Amino acid sequence: METYDPQAIEVKWQRVWADERAFSVSNPEPGEAQPREKAYVLEMLPYPSGDLHMGHVLNYTLGDVITHYRRRNGYSVLRPMGYDSFGLPAENAAIRQGGHPRETTEQSIANIRRQMQRLGWAIDWERELSTHQFEYYRWTQWLFLRLLEAGLAYRKKAAVKWCPNDQTVLANEQVVDGRCERCGAEVEGKKLEQWFFKTTAYADRLLDEIEDVGYWPDRVIAIQRNWIGRSEGAEIIFRIEELDIDVPVFTTRPDTLFGATFFVFAPEHELVPKLVQGTEHEEEVLDYVRRTAAASTFERMDPEKEKTGVFTGRYATNPATGEPIPIWVSDYVLLEYGTGAISGVPAHDERDFAFAQRFGLPLRTVVVPAEGAESEPEEVFSAHTGDERLVNSGQFSGMAAPEGARAIVEWLEGRQAARFAVGFRLRDWGFSRQRYWGCPIPVVYCGACGIVPVPDDELPVLLPEVEDYTPRGKPPLATNEEWLRVPCPRCGVEGRREAETMDTFVDSSWYFLRYCDPHNDGAPFERRLVDYWLPVDQYIGGAEHATMHLLYARFFVKVLNDLGLLGFREPFMRLFNQGSINFRGARMSKSRGNVVPPDEMIARHGADALRLYILFMGPVDQDKEWQDTGIEGMVRFLNRLWRFVHEVAAREGADEAEEGPLVRKAHETIARVSDDIGRRFVFNTPISAVMELVNELGRDVSAPGARFAAETAVSLIQPYAPHVAEELWSTLGHERLLERPWPVADESKLARETFELVIQVNGKVRDRVEASMDESEEQLVERALASPRVEAQLDGREVRQTIVVPGRLVNLVV
Ligand SMILES: [Zn+2]
Ligand SMILES: [Zn+2]
Repeated sequence: METYDPQAIEVKWQRVWADERAFSVSNPEPGEAQPREKAYVLEMLPYPSGDLHMGHVLNYTLGDVITHYRRRNGYSVLRPMGYDSFGLPAENAAIRQGGHPRETTEQSIANIRRQMQRLGWAIDWERELSTHQFEYYRWTQWLFLRLLEAGLAYRKKAAVKWCPNDQTVLANEQVVDGRCERCGAEVEGKKLEQWFFKTTAYADRLLDEIEDVGYWPDRVIAIQRNWIGRSEGAEIIFRIEELDIDVPVFTTRPDTLFGATFFVFAPEHELVPKLVQGTEHEEEVLDYVRRTAAASTFERMDPEKEKTGVFTGRYATNPATGEPIPIWVSDYVLLEYGTGAISGVPAHDERDFAFAQRFGLPLRTVVVPAEGAESEPEEVFSAHTGDERLVNSGQFSGMAAPEGARAIVEWLEGRQAARFAVGFRLRDWGFSRQRYWGCPIPVVYCGACGIVPVPDDELPVLLPEVEDYTPRGKPPLATNEEWLRVPCPRCGVEGRREAETMDTFVDSSWYFLRYCDPHNDGAPFERRLVDYWLPVDQYIGGAEHATMHLLYARFFVKVLNDLGLLGFREPFMRLFNQGSINFRGARMSKSRGNVVPPDEMIARHGADALRLYILFMGPVDQDKEWQDTGIEGMVRFLNRLWRFVHEVAAREGADEAEEGPLVRKAHETIARVSDDIGRRFVFNTPISAVMELVNELGRDVSAPGARFAAETAVSLIQPYAPHVAEELWSTLGHERLLERPWPVADESKLARETFELVIQVNGKVRDRVEASMDESEEQLVERALASPRVEAQLDGREVRQTIVVPGRLVNLVV
C-alpha cells in the first residue's frame, strides 16, 4: 500500500480539476426554458495586500464546503473570486513595500491566487476579476454616471472627517470612536468640496426592506437599523428676525417646545459666519469654530466632557412662545445629526441641562409625571417618564404628552412653522478620496458648463501615471498636468478633470453583479444573467462589514433596481459572519507576531488537513484558538482513513451486505452530516461524525458492509478534504466523486434504538412505555402526558414541574 502523501495527491487533483474546468459554471442560454436550480455562494472578496491569513482560510473553506454540498445536491453553483484591489489597503501596502501600487497589488494577487489554488478551493477561475483593472472600473465609472444622471451623486462643500495619517477624507462609517478605521489615527475635522451619493434618499427603503432578506444575523440587522436610525418627530421652524432667516430643527419631543429657552448651532453650520459677520462677536465665534473643528465626534459626544460654547449676539424666535431666545454655538451639537442646529430644552434634556448650567441659561419645566407632582413644578432638570402631561404650555397645558406633541405640531403647521417629520441618523455617503490608487471620477470641470460628465463612449477614464503617488493632502492626480487638462466634452474649451478618486467601497458595491457576466464589454452586466443568479444565496464575511459594505451594496442594488438595470431589491439573502482565529490568546496579526502562515501548514501537513482543521476547531461563527496538535490530529485521521480504505479495496469481491451495524452506522452518519451542513449550518460536528464512522470501520475492515462504510466516509468528507477523497474514491474503483450525487440516508436502515421509559407521578411509577433514544425531552414529556394511566392519576390537576432523565424516566410533579 502506498503511504498517504498529501503533497503529491493534492497537486495531482488540482491539475485534473483545472484541465477539466471542474468548477466553471455556465450561464443559462437566452430563452432556456428551465435552467437548473441555482445557488450563488459568495465570500467577501479579499484586499490583496500580502498573503492569505488563517481568517481567509476559514472564510473560503466554509464557502467551499457549501459549494461542494450544493453542487452534489444538484444545484448549478456560482462560486467566483476576485480582489478588492483599489483603495487604501492596497495603496498603503505599496507605500510600506516601496513599490508602485499596481506592481505590489498585482504581485499580491498572483500570490493569493497561488495560495487559493493550492488550497484546492472550488472556484470558477474564469470569472476572476480585480477592481483595479480598467475592464472592471470602466463600469464602475459607467454606474457612477447613471447615479449622477439620476441626481443621486452630487458635490458640495461639507465638513468632513480627515485622517491626517492617510491624508484623506473618511466616510462617517470609517470613523470608529473618533479614530480612523483603517489606521487608528485620531480623526480631524475639515471643510472640503466632496462627492456624495444620496444614500439618505433610500433611508426608508434601506430600513424597511431589510425585512425581505432571508437569514441574517440579528446583530447585523440591529446594527443596520441603528445606523440608519429612523425616529418620528417634527421639524420646527425657528425664525431669526434680524436676518430674515428661518432655521429648521428636528425634534422627537415637540411636546417640550414651550421649554426651549435657547438655540444652538453646530460650529460647522454654514449659517454661523453669517450670524456674526461684522459684529463684535465675530472674532470670538470664528475662533471657537476653528478650535473645535479638530475635536473628534467621539470626544464631542462624550457626556462627561465639560460643555463649551459662545454666544453669537443673535436671537431666534421660539414659535410656540413667541419669545426671542439666545443663539449659541457649541460643539456638543453635531452637524451630521438632524439639521445641525437644536433648540435647547434644559429642563428635559441632559446635555441641554449641562450646557444651561455652565452658561447660566434659564430652565422651564413643561412636562411632569401624570401621577403626583401636583405641587408647583420646580425649575430643575427632570428626566422623562413613561406617562407625562404638559404644564406651562399655554392652551396645551394638562394634555398627555403624546397628545400634546401632536396638537402643538398641528397648531404650528397652520402657521407654516412646523411639520411632522421623520428623522434619520444616516448621512449621505461621501465617497471621494484625495488619494491616487482608486477609480477616477469621470467628470470634467468647465469654466462655462460646470461639472460635465465624460460621455459613456469615452470611458474608461484611465488612471494615469504620476511621479509621486504618496498622499500629501492634495490629490496626486492633480500633479499630472497633461492628464488633468482636457477639452470640455460639451463646449470644447479647456477644462480640468476630477483629480480625486472613488473610495474602494464603491468598487465593492457591485462586484457581485459583475461576476455573473464578467467579460461583457458592452455593459456592466446583462440583466437576464444577474436576475438569474442574484440574490446571492449565501454570503460569508466578517462582522466588521455590518454597516459600510453591506449598506452601500444594498443602496446600489436598490438604485439599479429603480433604474431598471436589474430585477431584485436585496443583494444577499443569507448572510453569515465567521469568527476569528486566535493564537496565543489573541487574534492572529502581524503586529502581534502570532501569525500561523497557511503556506507553512500546507507544506507540512497538506491542504486537506488544514481545511479539515480550520472547520473542526469549533463552531464556525465563534472565535477559536489555533493549536498545532489540532492539525496533527487531522493528519492522523486522514492516515487512518487512507489505510482502512486501502484495506477494504484490497479485499477481492468484498461483501455487498445491506444489513448490519456498520451499514446502519453509515446511514446514521449520512443523516447527521446532511442535517448539520444542509439545515443546521454547523460545520465542525460533521467531521466528528465521519471520524466515528471511520473508527467503527477500523475495528474490522472485513465486517459486513465495510465497503459501503468506506465509500460513505470518503463521500461525506469530500467537501472538506476533496483531494484525498477523490484519490480514495478512485482507489475504491470509482470516478469523479465531486460530480457524484450527495448520499441519501435510507430511513429504514437508521438505527432506532429504543428504551423503556418509566413514567412517574409524584415519584411513584404509574406506567412504562417504549420510547426512542433520539426523542427530545419535550417529546418524552408529551408521551408521559398521553398515557391514559397517567391521565387518570393526574385527574385534571396541573403539572407544576417535570423532571426528565433522558434514556430513563419522566417524573410529573403535581
Ligand atoms: Zn487613517
Ligand atoms: Zn464646457
